[in-house]
Amino acid sequence: MRRTAGVYIHIPFCARKCGYCDFNAYSGYKEATKTRYVEALCREIESRAEPQTRVPTIFFGGGTPTELAASDLVRILQTVKATFCVDADAEITTEANPGDADPGYLADLRAGGGFNRLSFGVQTFDDRLLRSLDRLHSGNDARAAVQAAKAAGFANISLDLMFALPRQTMADWDRSLDTAFALDVPHLSMYALIIEEGTPFFARRERGRLPLTSEKTEAAMFARAMQRAVEAGYERYEVSNYARPGFQSRHNRIYWRNEEYFGFGAGAASYLGGARTMNERRPSRYIETVTTGGNLFVSEERLSPREAMGETMMMGLRMTEGVDLDAFARRFGVRAEETFAKEIARLSDGGFIEVAEGHLRLTERGLFVGSEVMLAFLP
Ligand code: SF4
Repeated sequence: MRRTAGVYIHIPFCARKCGYCDFNAYSGYKEATKTRYVEALCREIESRAEPQTRVPTIFFGGGTPTELAASDLVRILQTVKATFCVDADAEITTEANPGDADPGYLADLRAGGGFNRLSFGVQTFDDRLLRSLDRLHSGNDARAAVQAAKAAGFANISLDLMFALPRQTMADWDRSLDTAFALDVPHLSMYALIIEEGTPFFARRERGRLPLTSEKTEAAMFARAMQRAVEAGYERYEVSNYARPGFQSRHNRIYWRNEEYFGFGAGAASYLGGARTMNERRPSRYIETVTTGGNLFVSEERLSPREAMGETMMMGLRMTEGVDLDAFARRFGVRAEETFAKEIARLSDGGFIEVAEGHLRLTERGLFVGSEVMLAFLP
């Protein structure tokens, strides 16, 4: 059968590494290295070409894709289009730093390349909080970026916002929400700050020098976002994602439905034919491996049917609609209600999940302890 898969492109460069970030992202690379990275990326895409494979979504993430020239992003996109069967109406997103979004750059992405969705890493509109996150843009840059994107013809714009930031009050969070709603974009992603091991923020917290919000305040901020976004006309369709009708992220739905995708670039993950692979992480080693024709995959894991089913449950519960139980049975040849009878009974009795309209989904109570419920389905 003809394969359908999303495409993810990783651009690992950032102007400066943020103190909370544990993504595969690096600052300080020279322009010449970036040029070699783009060459290597195009070569990797060509070497894994599948002209028959249907591609409904392409997502450029990072890092900061807009650290590259617009012409580089367009060239990478054209390489995907030349080597896969990209849908005429494919969703083509790039993440963008608000500080890079000048009108000419955005017009080149839109008109020259066919990008049709922008995801801005705004995080907050509060300059004091932005500085404390090591972000280089300002709240005004973010406002201007959205206006420039609209002027360049982008209708599908998403903003990433963060809450539970050090020293952030509920009033601060409310002001960021006010600004986001006033900008009238069709999609919002709103995540709590997570302190990951190995980051400068982690070290500061260990030394007692990171004034974090309490768990209670974090939960209240999550609830506030949910309530206010719905009042502003957004639908919550995933734990942390909100959209106006017709603007859900089609690319992210591929992940949440545990469907297939290619990942190109340093550290990018792919999920194809039941196997999960991971590319070489360091950009310099990635470039060298591609250039010398070596094996790019640093890990390759074939999932057992039980693991694949567990991941489908775990990811599917992130979506408000939950896991489609008939679709699950068609895909795996067994019913989730039988395979996971014990887990479903325990979590239903606790009031964390429910079955409604043929879907298994989180209840409001389950939403607030989300990851614990989802992890229950992994082997
Ligand atoms: S801009 Fe994003 S990817 Fe880059 S360092 Fe900051 S959080 Fe990480």
